[in-house]
Amino acid sequence: MKQYYKFGWAIIIALVLVVFASISYYLESELKTWMQDIVREESLEDAKTISSVLANLSSDFTPETLDPLLDKINQNSRYRVTVIDSTGVVLADTKLTLDEVFSIDNHRDRPEFLSATDQLAGESIRYSKTLKQKMLYLAIPFKATGFTGFIRISHSLADIDTYTDKLRSIQQTVALIGLAILGIISFISYGFIQKNNELQKKKLRKKVKQKTKSLVEIQKFSEKLAACNSINELSEVVASTMLILFPSSSGALSITHPSLDQNEVIAHWGKHWSGEALYPPEQCWAFRKGSPYISKGNSVETKCKHMNISHQKTSVCVPLLAQSIAIGVLHIVFEKSCSKDAKNRFVTIADHLSLAVANINLRESLKRQAIRDPLTNLYNRRFLDEALKNELLRAQRNQQSLAVLMIDVDHFKKFNDSFGHDAGDYTLQQVGKTLLNLVRGEDIACRFGGEEFTVVFPNITNDDLIKRANAILQAVKDIELMFKNKPLGSITLSIGVASYPEHETTAEGLISAADKALYQAKANGRNQVVMA
Ligand code: GH3
Ligand code: MG
Ligand code: MG
Repeated sequence: MKQYYKFGWAIIIALVLVVFASISYYLESELKTWMQDIVREESLEDAKTISSVLANLSSDFTPETLDPLLDKINQNSRYRVTVIDSTGVVLADTKLTLDEVFSIDNHRDRPEFLSATDQLAGESIRYSKTLKQKMLYLAIPFKATGFTGFIRISHSLADIDTYTDKLRSIQQTVALIGLAILGIISFISYGFIQKNNELQKKKLRKKVKQKTKSLVEIQKFSEKLAACNSINELSEVVASTMLILFPSSSGALSITHPSLDQNEVIAHWGKHWSGEALYPPEQCWAFRKGSPYISKGNSVETKCKHMNISHQKTSVCVPLLAQSIAIGVLHIVFEKSCSKDAKNRFVTIADHLSLAVANINLRESLKRQAIRDPLTNLYNRRFLDEALKNELLRAQRNQQSLAVLMIDVDHFKKFNDSFGHDAGDYTLQQVGKTLLNLVRGEDIACRFGGEEFTVVFPNITNDDLIKRANAILQAVKDIELMFKNKPLGSITLSIGVASYPEHETTAEGLISAADKALYQAKANGRNQVVMA
C-alpha cells in the first residue's frame, strides 16, 4: 500500500487540473455573455453620443451632408455607424463610400430595426457576410428637427470569440494534461498492483510451504517420540528437533521429580540455556495454571522466576499435562517477540510431548514394578535369574570372575515373634538399604525371598569378595534398629559365597553352591561368612 502514497501529489495535481478545466468550461459561456454585455453597454453609450452630436450639428439629413459629418465624428472607427431613415433607407455609413450608400439594400427587414421601438434600442447578433465576422448590431431611435430614423452601431464580436477560443484551447490543454497524468498514474499503479499481487501470492505460497514443512516435522517428531523407550532417548529427540523447528530460539524441557518438589531440566537446545536447571515447580506460572504462560523481558507483568529473561526477549512455558496433572514444562525463549503461529506450533509440540512423557513414565513405573521388590526396592528374584545369566555370559566372554553371595537373616522368625511383623518388615528394609550402600554400581543386590538376599559381584577377586561379605555382615550387625521409638536390638546374618569359574560355571550351580555354603554358615553357628 505504501507505494501508492508516492503518487499522492501527482493525483492531487491531476485532479486539480481536471476540476479547473471543468469549472472554466462552465464559466466560459458566462464570460462570453458578460463581455457581450460590456460591448452592448458601450455601443449604446456611443449611439446616444453620436445621435445627440448629429442632432446638434445637422438639420439636413441627406447622404451628401451626413457622410462627411459621420467621418468627422467617428474618427477612431472602433465600430461602424450607420444612419437609416424610418423606412429603412441607408443614408450614411462610416464603412461605405457615398456611391455604395446609394446602392445598398433597404434595411427595414434587419432584426435590430424590427425589434427597436420609438423608445427602446433593438439588437441583433449575427454573422456579417460583408465583413466576414460575427457582429453585434444595435439600433436606437433617432429624432432630430425634420427627421425620424435610427442610428445603428455595428460592433465586431470577433475579439471576444478569439479570446474565448484561446481560453478554450488552454482549458483543453489543461484537461488533457490532467487526464494524461491520471492515465499514467493508473497505468503505473496497475503495474504496482500486479506486482504487489504477485508478491502477496509468493508470500502466501512461502507461508503454506513453511507450514507444511513444520507440520511434516511435527509429525516426524511425534513418530520419533512414540518410538522412545526412555526419558534419555526422548530428551535427545527433543533437543535435535526443536533446533529444526525453532532455529533462532533456545529452550528446554523440564520434568517433575516423582517427589513433586522439583522440576529438572533434562534437555535443552539453542546457544545456551539461561534458565534454572533445577527449580521448585511453583516458580513456573504455566505449571501452576496448567496452561501456556508468556513472560516478556520488558513487561511489567509477572514473569516466570526460573526463566531469567532479559529486556527484549520473550519466553513461553507450556505445561506437559497427563490427565490434567502437570508432569513437566516445555520452555522456549525468543530473541524478540513470539508470533501467534510460533506459539501455536510450540503448544502442539508440547501436547505431543505430554503424551510421550506420560507413556514413558508409565512404562518405567511398570518396569520398576516388574523387576523390583516393593518392600526393599532391591531387584526381585525374576530379575536376578535374568541378570545372573547375562552377567555370567559377559564374564565368560571377557574371561573375568563373578561371585554370588546368599544372605539369610539369623533367627528372623523369633525376631518377628518378639517385635511383630511390621517391625520385621522395617528391619528387612534397613537390611536392603545397607546392602545398596555397600555394593558398587555394577553389582546386583536382590531380595531372593523372605529374609534371604542375594548379591552378584561381577569381576571381583576372592580377597575383595571376602572383605565385602564381611563388611555386609558387620554393617547389618551395626544397624541400630528403632521402630516406633522402640529399640529392636540388632540382627546378624549368615552368608554363603560361591564364585565363577572357581566353584561353578552355571547360574543354577553358583546359586546352589552359595546356598550350600550358607547352610554351612548356619550350621557353624551363624553370624559368619562361608566360602563354597
Ligand atoms: P534361621 O536362622 O535358621 O534362618 O532362622 P529363621 O527364623 O530366620 O528361619 P525360618 O526360615 O525359620 O524363618 C524365616 C522367617 O522369616 C519366617 C517369616 O516369618 C519371616 N519372614 C519371611 N518373609 C518376611 C517378610 O516379608 N516380613 C516379615 N516381617 N517376616 C518375614
Ligand atoms: Mg531363611
Ligand atoms: Mg533365617
